[in-house]
Parts: sequence; structure tokens; C-alpha cells
Amino acid sequence: MSSFRRDFITKPIFSWARGVLPVMSDTEREALEAGDVWWDADLFTGNPDWSKLLSHAPATLTEQEKAFLNGPVDELCAMLDDWKINWEWRDLPGEAWDFIKRKKFFGIIIPKEYGGLGFSPYAHSEVVRKLSSRSLTAAVTVMVPNSLGPGELLMRFGTREQQERWLPRLADGRDIPCFGLTSPEAGSDAASMIDTGVICQGNFEGREVLGLRLNWHKRYITLGPVATLLGLAFKAYDPDHLVGTEGELGITVALIPTDLPGVSIGRRHLPAMQVFQNGPNWGKDVFIPMDYIIGGQTRLGQGWKMLMTALAAGRGISLPSLSAAGAAYAARTSGAYARIREQFGIAIGKFEGIEEPLARIAATAYLLDAARRLTCAALNQGHHPAVISGIMKLQATERMRIAIDDAMDIHGGKAVIDGPQNYLGNLYRSVPVGITVEGANILTRNLIVFGQGAIRAHPYLLQEMNALGEADPARGLDAFDRAFWQHVGHSVVTLFRAWGRSWSGGIFAPAPEAGAASRFYRQLSRYSSAFALCADMALLTLGGALKRKEMLSARFGDILSELYLLSAALKRWEDEGRQAADFAALEWCMASGFRTIENRFAEILANLPNRLIGLILAFLIQPLGARVLGPSDRVVHECAQLVLEPSAARDRLTPDLSQVDDDGGVARLEKAFLLVTGTDAIAKRMHAARIHDWQEAVKRGVITEAEGNQIAAAREAVAKVIEVDDFAPEALSPIFKKPADVHQFFGEIGETRAAS
Ligand SMILES: Cc1cc2nc3c(=O)[nH]c(=O)nc-3n(C[C@H](O)[C@H](O)[C@H](O)COP(=O)(O)OP(=O)(O)OC[C@H]3O[C@@H](n4cnc5c(N)ncnc54)[C@H](O)[C@@H]3O)c2cc1C
Repeated sequence: MSSFRRDFITKPIFSWARGVLPVMSDTEREALEAGDVWWDADLFTGNPDWSKLLSHAPATLTEQEKAFLNGPVDELCAMLDDWKINWEWRDLPGEAWDFIKRKKFFGIIIPKEYGGLGFSPYAHSEVVRKLSSRSLTAAVTVMVPNSLGPGELLMRFGTREQQERWLPRLADGRDIPCFGLTSPEAGSDAASMIDTGVICQGNFEGREVLGLRLNWHKRYITLGPVATLLGLAFKAYDPDHLVGTEGELGITVALIPTDLPGVSIGRRHLPAMQVFQNGPNWGKDVFIPMDYIIGGQTRLGQGWKMLMTALAAGRGISLPSLSAAGAAYAARTSGAYARIREQFGIAIGKFEGIEEPLARIAATAYLLDAARRLTCAALNQGHHPAVISGIMKLQATERMRIAIDDAMDIHGGKAVIDGPQNYLGNLYRSVPVGITVEGANILTRNLIVFGQGAIRAHPYLLQEMNALGEADPARGLDAFDRAFWQHVGHSVVTLFRAWGRSWSGGIFAPAPEAGAASRFYRQLSRYSSAFALCADMALLTLGGALKRKEMLSARFGDILSELYLLSAALKRWEDEGRQAADFAALEWCMASGFRTIENRFAEILANLPNRLIGLILAFLIQPLGARVLGPSDRVVHECAQLVLEPSAARDRLTPDLSQVDDDGGVARLEKAFLLVTGTDAIAKRMHAARIHDWQEAVKRGVITEAEGNQIAAAREAVAKVIEVDDFAPEALSPIFKKPADVHQFFGEIGETRAAS
């Protein structure tokens, strides 16, 4: 029976599919195959196993990691004055650079045997998180050597000799690394770079050896201007066939000490007024021996795969940690400011108009940190979930952007006026950096999340594609037959499951016993099955063309992202012992996420090119259209309250941010917040007596003298917060009176041009 099925039913489908399967480039295949799958694969089945998620151990820190966070990280934070770093020094102070190297901040992920700290991904994330709440320049400086770059690549792919030579030097800061991938002509499409390495004989340190002659031009390279060791991506060529028969070997990564002859480390870019070190560099006929290729000669041409594998983990840590910290910072400061700032005689946080953005910030902080912790837990256990890393990078930076915008609006002029007392302006300016780097967000949303997810995380698609691409047709047909019919069976079950769950409003969908949160699991089970069904139908009707239908792909990506983020929020709720006080944040996340999911389904169904399938799917999963409105006014109100009063819930929402008691903007705000909320009862008595002047209130016996003093202290603290900076006019007048002065100061202002 099975051979009849294979030969008479599967075979024609196999032959047809082999003919229409789009040709996948090597770089596409390598990007797709990088990393592994994890909870994303469960979501793709249409029937996620919640017990698997809930039994996953949360990420924790070792004693040594905790001591580092409460010791060197706090010490470093205390050395950092973000205003001076940005506007006076345009760099980290020298003592901070020394401290960073001495305390091995550049070696967080390097194993102890090579002199590094050997910390877990979660500890790495916590360091980035705390630092970024004090100074973005410091956070980026520390983050880059610990994510995609020479250290990570050496650890994974380096030869033993390379590891022993370079890792100890990277761990203690004797070498400062950077990684050069982007060039003027190749940005998002980095694989199209025109930087070359030609295999030839050459003289290296007095010896005639086989190596590569490199020519490149890179730009936007973080730490580039101060780097001593450049990880370089280029295309290797072997025109004289010195290592084999192939002429074009493909993308390769090598280590380039920046003092080699021919290397030019350019000057500095100024990215959105951020002053972390960043700039162009180029090389002209730079000769390196073969053993400078990471992993040695056998790794020639494997660079893209190596980069994608490293990115699969790195993308899930650095920017998500920075963004989660940004949202928590926005929640803590905006809640405090909305509580102490009064207009029309009451705290602005009591206005519904302010509650709305405040609730959005608070819930975003809850959600992003939940997703960061869950992702770090997976990374801690050795997973490299490529699709989840992409989701995290995209969603965390996008949501941070919304949270920071909201925080700016709540603060009004206070956040607009720049100066040492402005604790939001620099974060606001930095937002586009996170959006752009490590895969710009538009590309990631439209091309990567679902494009990669559909193939990697789908239960059968990759097996089918591999079978179709099999060189031996008989073996391919066998494998295809197995995968295809399992896929068909799965699709039929998914169809009935999605239909049943949608029409019953998800009330019978599986959910663990999770108290008040059980209903959220049921809805996610329902949406997961609808997602699996729609994804299958879109893949079936569009095939490879789905790749070009970016708007559809982006909507599928949004649904998958929501399913992941909302799972993470439920996991957090459970891991933290179902905190009743935080329930409003969870409810907000769910209502907002469900609205997005429903809207994206409606948009997909309305735009699927195969209209018949679109209508059938609409009948099955959304007969009444998108019906979720988002968080109710009650939920918004309750969620905003989480950050308007000092409480354990507020601390849970905004944990472990840097808190340096230095009379800076944040320290002043926190102090005023505690004084104002601590005198609430006294202020209420004065308000009831319609007396504003505390001395008058004392005189009339409404409050005691001691209470009067507390009110005075609170008012003084508030006055210090609502102060903004001003400058002597000459300090803000043009620094340069005539063009010649500009030249004298900067020299020639260079342009990093594309090679013609
Ligand atoms: C501050 C900063 C630091 C950086 N650090 C480093 C570093 O250390 N090392 C390094 O190698 N690189 C670094 N980069 C480079 C960064 O990775 C690139 O800027 C990024 O890959 C985007 O390239 P691009 O800026 O040339 O934009 P482009 O590629 O020109 O893209 C422009 C826009 O088009 C969109 N787009 C492109 N293709 C598609 C598509 N198919 N579908 C939909 N939209 C698309 C993009 O999303 C983007 O919105 C850094 C960049 C900056 C700004």
C-alpha cells in the first residue's frame, strides 16, 4: 500500500514540486539552517504543549555572577556620567576603559580556562541591562565584544591554537575586538559584499607562506576606531587553484591585527549623537597567513554559516537586554514623574490621558523582561533558537521605541530640554541605533521572522524541502513520501482543531491549571492552531512566492511574535508565583496581543491572493471578523497604578536598574517620589481643608509641625526634579564662527563612500 501511495500519488507531486521549488542560494540555505528551534516549533504545531514550557527551569545567576553585578557593575556605573560622556568627553572616561578591561567586562562570555569570566547568557544579559540603565555608551562598549564578534567566533569555530593565542588577550582587554561585515555597498544584503581575499604566497614576518591578500572597505563598525583585532568578513577567491579546484570559495572570516601593514582604521562616525566608538576601516593588499582564518584553512568559504550561527544566539541577548532595560527605565521614571508632577491641582498620573501611555509602558516592561528571561533560559541550556532571536531583536527594539516615545510624552518639556538633568533625551536619540543594527527591523519583520520561521519551526516543511533537494531522486522520493503524508495528516487535524477552537471561542482549547490566567492559555492554543492552518494554506497556495509577499509574511511574523511574547508573559506570571498585583500587566499584554493577532489574521485573510482559500479560512477561523478591542479602561487604569506608587509590584516590574545616589536626574526623581508618596496622607488632609501653604496648615492645626516639615521637604525635592537645565548663551552659540574653524577643529570631514 505504501509503495503504491509513493509511486502513484506522491511521485507526481514530488516531480511537480521539484520543478517549481525555488532555487535557494547557499547563503539563504546557510542562514535558514543556522541555530536550532525551540518553543517556536511548538507554537508552529498548532497545539503547543504548555507543560513543556512551564516545566522549563527559569534562568538563574550563580553566586559569582551575582557578586559581579553587585560589585564591579555597580562600581562601573558609579564612574559614568552620561551627560559628560556624551557632551564633554565624547567617549568613556579613561578610568572606565581601564576598569572595563581590568575587571574583564570584555571577557564575560569567554570561558574561565582562557582567562574570561565564563558567565552564562543570562548573566551577560543582566550586565548589559544594568549598564544600559546608566550609560548606553558603556553598555554598547561592553556588549559588542561579548556578542557577535571575534570572541564568540573563536570560541565556536577557532582552532585550539587560535583560542589559546587570542582568547586570553580578548578576555583581559589586551586586545579590543570589533567585527567588520557591513560595507558601503552591502548593508542588509551583507552577503553581497565586494571585499575580497585572494589566495596567494606572501611574506609574513620574514617567512614565505600561503595566505590571503585582502582588500576591503567597511563602515559603521562598532569599536572599530579603537580596535586592535578586527574580525573581517570577505569573499575568498583562489584563481591559481592553490588550495583546490574551486575559484570562488565564498564568504570567509579572519582575524586581522589592526597594526598589519595596509590596514587603515578610519576616523569616527557619530551615530545619532551616541559616542560609543564607531567608524569605517579599510585594507589595501593586506597579507595574512592561512591560520588567521577563524578555524583555519578548512573554514575557507564557511564564514556565512559561522556568522549566522553566532547571530542565532547573540541577537537574542544584547539588544533585547538593552531594550528590556529601556522599557523598565521608562516605566520607573515615567511612573514616578507622573506621580510627583501636578497640573490642574492633581498629579498628572491621575488623568486618564496619562494613564493610557503609562499602562502601555508598564505592560511593555513586564512583557519584554518576561521574553528576555525566557530566551536567556533557553540560551543557558545550550539552545541557539534562530527564529526566536530574530523575534526578540525585532520586537524588543520596536517596543522599546514605543515605550520611550510614551515616556517622552508623559514628561513633556522636562524630557525635551537637554542637559545633565534630562534622564530620557539620550535614550530617545539612541532608539534608531537598536532598530537598525543586527538586521534592520523592516527587513527582520518582513523577511526573516516568518520567512525563516516557516521553514525552520514548521514540523514538516524543512524535511520536505530537503527531500526535494536530495541529489538521489529515489531517496528523495522516499523521504518526501514520509514527510508529505505526515504533513497532510497534520494539516487535516489542524484544520478541524482550528475550526473547532475558533467557533467555540477557545473555551475547550487546552490549558494548564493556572488560576485566573488559564483563559489566556486557551486563547493562545486557539490562535496557535489558526496560525498553523493559515500558514500551511499560505505556503500551499503561494509556495516560494510567499518570500516576495513581504506584507503577508510580516503579518504572519507578527502573529508568531505575539504567540512567543505572550507565552513568555504567562511563564513569568507562573515563575513569579502568580503575583495578584501584577495581574493587570498580564491582562494588558494579553488583550493588546490578542488584538494584534486578530487584526493580523483579518489582514491576511483579506489579502491572500487565492481568494477562495481566503474566504474558506475566514469562515473557519474568523467568521465574525477581528473582534478584540484591546485592553479595557479598567485594565489600563489598574496597570498604570503599578508604577504610580512605591510597591513590590513596581520593584518587580523594574528590577536591578542602576541606582547611583549622585544627585543626578534619576536619583533626584526617586527621592522626590518617595517623599511625595510618603506624605500622601498629610497632603490629603491639607487638600480637604483647602490649604496649600503648609505653614498655614500647621498654624490652623490641620497638620503637625513635623508633618509640615515633611511636606516642605517633599516640595523642595519636587522642585529639584521639575527644574530643567539652561546654558549661558555663548555656550550654545555656534562653536565655529567660520568654515575655516570647522576644518581647524575636525580636519577634513570625511565621507565613507561606496566603492565605485
Ligand atoms: C550605529 C551602528 C553600528 C553598527 N555596528 C556594526 C558593526 O559593528 N559591524 C558591522 O558589520 N555592521 C555594523 N552596523 C551595520 C548595520 O548592521 C547595518 O546598518 C544594517 O545591516 C543595515 O544596513 P544599512 O544601514 O546599509 O541599510 P540598508 O541595507 O540600506 O537598508 C535600508 C532599509 O531597507 C530595509 N530593507 C533592506 N532590504 C530589505 C528587504 N528585502 N525587505 C524589506 N526591507 C528591506 C532595511 O530594513 C532598512 O530599513 C552598524 C550600524 C550602525 C548604524
